[in-house]
Amino acid sequence: MTEQPEGGARLIGRLYRTARWRNLRTAQLTREPLCRLCDYAGDVVAATVCDHVTPHRGDEALFWAGPFQSLCADCHSRHKQREEHGRPTLTFAADGWPIT
Ligand SMILES: [Zn+2]
Repeated sequence: MTEQPEGGARLIGRLYRTARWRNLRTAQLTREPLCRLCDYAGDVVAATVCDHVTPHRGDEALFWAGPFQSLCADCHSRHKQREEHGRPTLTFAADGWPIT
């Protein structure tokens, strides 16, 4: 890993460990329990990741503002690699929580 500016990916990593995020994630996965991208492809896959539709790119205000979508870990990895190409990103485990 290269050095990251304070307020960037390191800050966001901390936000994922807050009770506020846990509650928000649970609410999203309850509202939309299936992976949205798999659903588009005709597959029924349980979602484990609460994903930011608008990439927050380390911005705390955007991080909380949403909107959010439910994705499975596989789709989330592909989605983020495409959207945030070349930027530091968090990796999510199969259970939907970031590996930090
Ligand atoms: Zn999926």
